[in-house]
Amino acid sequence: MSTPPTNASASGHDHKHTHDHDHKHDHKHDHDGCCTHHEMQTEKYLLIYLLGGVLLIASFVGRRLMGDQINTEVAIIPAVIASIMLAIPLFLASIKELRAGYASSSSLASLAIIAAMAMGNFDTAGWLALILLVVDQILRRTAFSAQRVIEQLIRLTPNVARIVRDGAEIDLKATEVQVGDIVRVRPGENLPVDGVVIAGRSTVDQASLTGEAAPHEVQPGEPVYAGTTNLSGSIDLRCTKVGGDTTIGKVSELIREAEKTKTPRQLLIEQVSRFYVPVVLSLSFVVWFLTNDVNRAITVLVVTCPAALLLSSPTAMVAAFAAAARLGILIKETRYLEAAADIDTVVMDKTGTITTGKFVVSRLSPATGVEGAELLAAAANGEQQSNHPLAKSIVNTARSARITLDGSNTFEEVHGRGVKATTTMGTIHVGRPTWLVELFPQIKDEIEAVSGRIEGMTGVHVVRDGRYLGAVGLEDKIRSNTKAVVERLRELGVRKTSIFTGDRLSVAERVGRTVGVDSVEAECLPEEKHEQIKALTKAGRRVLMVGDGINDGPSLASAEVGVAMGLGGSDIATNSAGVALMNDDLSRIPFMIELSRRNRVIIGQNIAISVVVAIVGLALAATGQLEILSALIFHFVADVLVILNSFRLFRFGEQYQTEEEQADAAAPAKRQASLSFGQQPQPA
Ligand code: ADP
Ligand code: MG
Repeated sequence: MSTPPTNASASGHDHKHTHDHDHKHDHKHDHDGCCTHHEMQTEKYLLIYLLGGVLLIASFVGRRLMGDQINTEVAIIPAVIASIMLAIPLFLASIKELRAGYASSSSLASLAIIAAMAMGNFDTAGWLALILLVVDQILRRTAFSAQRVIEQLIRLTPNVARIVRDGAEIDLKATEVQVGDIVRVRPGENLPVDGVVIAGRSTVDQASLTGEAAPHEVQPGEPVYAGTTNLSGSIDLRCTKVGGDTTIGKVSELIREAEKTKTPRQLLIEQVSRFYVPVVLSLSFVVWFLTNDVNRAITVLVVTCPAALLLSSPTAMVAAFAAAARLGILIKETRYLEAAADIDTVVMDKTGTITTGKFVVSRLSPATGVEGAELLAAAANGEQQSNHPLAKSIVNTARSARITLDGSNTFEEVHGRGVKATTTMGTIHVGRPTWLVELFPQIKDEIEAVSGRIEGMTGVHVVRDGRYLGAVGLEDKIRSNTKAVVERLRELGVRKTSIFTGDRLSVAERVGRTVGVDSVEAECLPEEKHEQIKALTKAGRRVLMVGDGINDGPSLASAEVGVAMGLGGSDIATNSAGVALMNDDLSRIPFMIELSRRNRVIIGQNIAISVVVAIVGLALAATGQLEILSALIFHFVADVLVILNSFRLFRFGEQYQTEEEQADAAAPAKRQASLSFGQQPQPA
């Protein structure tokens, strides 16, 4: 995708389901008001329907009102023209179906029309085609207005960007902005590109991406995203991504892709309807054979078209996707939405998932004969190129202590273990104790002595040129709602909740106790997490794994549903997780399970509606109690009921969001509960 996302169909006249933030933002987008290819085609077809309809009415009026004045043969001519004109799109659709190797609603409808024409009943044929086409059109319109809803949830990016070059401001098309350009965004404007703030402070409304109502504070160094709204101050950002590469661009792409995927249930429905068509055909032949009444056979065909059945699952899926996207839950394939309903085991990563991942260095514990400053300098120099949350906080602490970092020459990160870097200070290893002891067996005793001094903290140990320098003790905070989320999961019937972490057991156990999970697995290597998830799956568990995606990739991929958390954490498009949470709110997990169950209920209802309507219609048609045209209404009723039923899902979670906004308004400075290390004996 090379153009900026979502603008093409931004002319949206369908505001029925738009997110309530829309009115605030509408004026900020200068869209070009052009129609998509799809819309123009729709317009062209509408003309055919209109013309066909007029001709049919003319023919009808001609015969009814002026029957004695004009020749009926003449009056039938408009109907002949209309029926042929209207039948062509249907025939084309059925050829498409047959080419794809299956006969479905269009084929049945075409057959009915051909039969009617063969009987010389052009009137009926015309009306049949018209109404079937209009129904089809309405269906397609609703389907692609669902697409619009999704795109409107994901706020539009402006077309114009203000670039700062040599101190002067220039307006550029957003597509012409290049990575590295400086973009200035004033308060009230939407961001045109992804970037990093280089000057200014502000708050940014990221609801379009994350579904989070509370504004997000930004300052230099902080990443910001296209399609979000700058609220309070003017900021300059260095562009990192443009157009389809931006997070919002990828999000829209993923949603489009996800809509195309089919769940096992949808495939089953399609298979069933393959059997269904021959059954309906034989039935109508039987009716014809027994009653010798072609009209009745046509009625049977019309009334049993499986359109509603085929719509049962896709319409619900689209609505559920939109409901999820509104809350910042990005489901990459429909099958993950389906699988979420049956989850019985939830595994959570600790760092960055249950905790905020924003560590504070709380103790420096140097080995004997080493200075604290030297330890910190070595640790920071070793970590300066790592993206691990631990690394970032060590580097930040060093920076605020005015320790200069030299830019390491070579750097290597061993996932879940630590880093190795060659610096002007020497070769530095920073990481977990077990890994360092493997590399340098001689430091085992020293590491053990130091570890005791930072009991209860996450410890990162430092070795320089084979000499042990000591450990940095870090702490981070547990996210405030984790405990409630674990309780909610239990209420929803999840049998087991666990924490899998690479951190030491003492920290893991404390966190586990605080949030109330059933079990903790500490000191896991990334591949061990992955093995354990595979083992759980083998044992018949249906596992949902939540991780921050930094080194949880394999485990996220092996879980039935993998959920990657957070916007900043990792690249959503290449992520191995089936679901990306655009925010850090764990409460989206139970929500997704509920949404998935609701979705399943709705699909079940849809199937029931289509089957019941078809059976009743069939009974009436076979016994001759239904006219061809009333059969059409039957057909139509089932479709509309299915669509309306599915659209109820659009609203799922709306109330939840309102509650959240109110909670945010009531307690703007909600503090996060902090890990309590208070009971720890302080070393003298
Ligand atoms: P978690 O499973 O809690 O997300 P990780 O798998 O990311 O933790 O890391 C596990 C442990 O490995 C950390 O607690 C730390 O001791 C060590 N580690 C991993 N990466 C680094 C790094 N870049 N710097 C220092 N230590 C690291
Ligand atoms: Mg992690």
